[in-house]
Order: sequence, then C-alpha cells, then structure tokens
Amino acid sequence: MAQRCIVTGVSFETVRYTYRLRPGAAAERALTAEWHRCRWLWNEAVHQQKSGRRPTICKLSRLLTEARGRSVWLWEGSQVAQQQSLRAYMAALDASFKIPERGRPKVKRRKMARLSLEYTTRGFTIRDGRLCLPKGVTVPVVWSRTLPSEPKSVRVCQDNLGHWYASFTAVRPAAPASQAAGAIGIDWGVTATATTTDPAYDLPYGGYRKRCAAELAKAQRRMARRARLRGGKLHGPQSRGYREAERQAAKIAKKAARQNTHAARVWARRVVDDHQTIAVEDFRPKFLARSPMARKAADAAIGAAKRELIERGRRAGRKVVLVQPAYTTMTCSGCGEKQARLGLGQRIFRCQTCGYTAGRDRNAARVILATAECGRAGADDIRHAPSPPSRPRAAMRSEPEIPQLLAVGRH
Ligand SMILES: [Zn+2]
Repeated sequence: MAQRCIVTGVSFETVRYTYRLRPGAAAERALTAEWHRCRWLWNEAVHQQKSGRRPTICKLSRLLTEARGRSVWLWEGSQVAQQQSLRAYMAALDASFKIPERGRPKVKRRKMARLSLEYTTRGFTIRDGRLCLPKGVTVPVVWSRTLPSEPKSVRVCQDNLGHWYASFTAVRPAAPASQAAGAIGIDWGVTATATTTDPAYDLPYGGYRKRCAAELAKAQRRMARRARLRGGKLHGPQSRGYREAERQAAKIAKKAARQNTHAARVWARRVVDDHQTIAVEDFRPKFLARSPMARKAADAAIGAAKRELIERGRRAGRKVVLVQPAYTTMTCSGCGEKQARLGLGQRIFRCQTCGYTAGRDRNAARVILATAECGRAGADDIRHAPSPPSRPRAAMRSEPEIPQLLAVGRH
C-alpha cells in the first residue's frame, strides 16, 4: 500500500521484485539444511499451539534462544532465518483467527513443503552482485532488472522444478494516480474468460492449458507406465524415468500457468488504466473444482485474471466492487425484470417484458455494473457486496477467544 513521506510529500509503495538465483552445490546444501531447521521450528510452534500452550512471538523467541544454546544443530544455522520462520508462523496463526475459512497453520512435511527462507536486512547483504547470507553462504543473482531501492528483506525459495528464486521487498515512488472516468462491469465465463460491458475490453480465453493438454497427458502416461506401485499407490523411491516424466509434466503445467498470468496482467492493466469504477463478479472457482478438464483450465484463467484485476485496481485507487453472481444471468439489464433461468447452452438473453436482446454474458456484465453503481439493479435478489464480502456464517465458526497474538516484543 502507498505511504506518504512526511518531509517531501511523495507517495511510496512497497513492492516485490523476484530474480532467479544460481546457487552452487555447497550453497544449495547449506540452504536446504537451513530450511530443515526452520521447518523443525515451525512444526514445534504448531505442536505448542495444538497442545494448548498458546504461543506468542515472545514465548517462541525465548524458546528459540534456549534451544540454540542447547543444540549445536540449530546454532549452526542463521538466527535471522529461524526467527523469521517463527514470525511467519505467528502471522499465519493470527490470520487463521481473523480470516474466515483459513485453517490453523499445519505441520510442514519434509516431502510436501516447499523451501522458503526469509531474511531481514540484519541477515543479508548484496556484494558484487551476489546475495550474501549468514554463515558464509553466497549465491549469484540473475539481475534481470534493477531494484528500485535498497532491499528491505529477501525471501529465498525453490519451486517444484527445483529452480531457486530471491524475492526482494523494495520501496519505489508510487505512480501518480492517473485520472480515469467511466465504469465497467465484468462477467467471468468459459468461452471468453471475461465479458465486459464494453466489447473492446473482453478477454478471450487463451486456452493455454487446453493447448498443452495433449503434451501433459503424454507426460502423465509416461509417469503411469514407469511408476513403482504397491497396492495401487506409489511405493518406495521412483525410477529415473518416472522422475523425468514427472518433471516434464510439472514444466508443461507451469508454462501454461505463466502464459495465463501474463495475459491476465496485460488485460487487467488496460482495464484499470481506463476505468474508475470496476464491478467484478465475485466468482469462486472452488465450486467447480470437480468439473472436467477444460472447465478447470478456464477456472484457472479466471482466477488469475480476477486476482490481477483486484490487486491492480486497488493499487491505482480505483473503486473495485465485488458483486455476488446470484441472478445476474436471469435479470434483464434493460428493465431490471427477472426472467426464466437460461440453460447453459443458451447464449442469447431475450427479455419477455421489454424485448431487450443481448449476448448472455454481455447482459450479465451490464447487470453486474448496475448492481455495483446503485446498490441494486431492480430485482431485490441482487445483493450489493462491498469488498471484501462479509460471510457471517463462516465468521461465527472462528473461535470466540482470541489469544493475544503478535505482541511483537522487544524482549
Ligand atoms: Zn427487460
């Protein structure tokens, strides 16, 4: 979020810049070992919470200091990274009480959890273009673009393909708030990822995942052929052929996901630049998770586009309104009358009352915009949801007593 400097009056925003890392074998070993220490500490904190000891950052920090005094294994690692993993745990625990449907932080298993290490400025420097971490670990960075300022923190992580990344947080002057008039309504769909009130801003479905589905299926068949099974489940260490096929499948999936994200970014930027009010259908892909492959791919594209749009809109100071999707396809955007439900195959909306005719998604987009602009679009069933949408039932499920969390201590 943008912050204003009191002296100069210039607004600044904190942003993340991510770069590839090329660690050598020794650095890779050291980082992996550090990750296992941090993982162990995280799991210890999970255990404390489960056994009702109500961990706070003060209590955990004290335990860490004691444990480092006793255990050479912990002491050999970086205190900054270990402290940060406990802080990350406390943030996750805190969020689990405040955000509906967010579960308590879980144990990180050796084979499942992805490597991720945090360092504050106390724990890293950049020297000769290399990232220098505690205990003599230095890693070359691929500086694909320049950092806007001195970094404030860094997260070192590894993805499922084994690639290493460093994600720095830095500060940069916020772009001056551009003026835009106009409003736009957005309806998500399968044939076109986004249909808007203005056809010029539609986002056609790229079909990146669908296009590589054949390639992916081939890799998955190879995996199936080479899997070592017992009782229908993967058993023991897998063959080299299996691991290669697995990696190939992961690579294909990642490539499609990146293409999705890129297309979504370009589109979201154009929409945000030109509109002050953005009304978005509050689509929840979770409902469609058990649907066929093509549908799933479309869901992923919608998820990426929605995320990008909300993030960019809020950053640019636009009015982003999330609208509940109920009845948007049944309501006429011309007169506001509710019509009979349209089958999935019916692509044209025709109003029996006023004769308004439009594409089904285009009509829905117009209803969404109308809902956001006046609170309702004629029919009482359309609810105007201010963002973030409130869900009282889910909120009630969170536990009544909230322990004093994140009393970030000076102990
Ligand atoms: Zn009508």
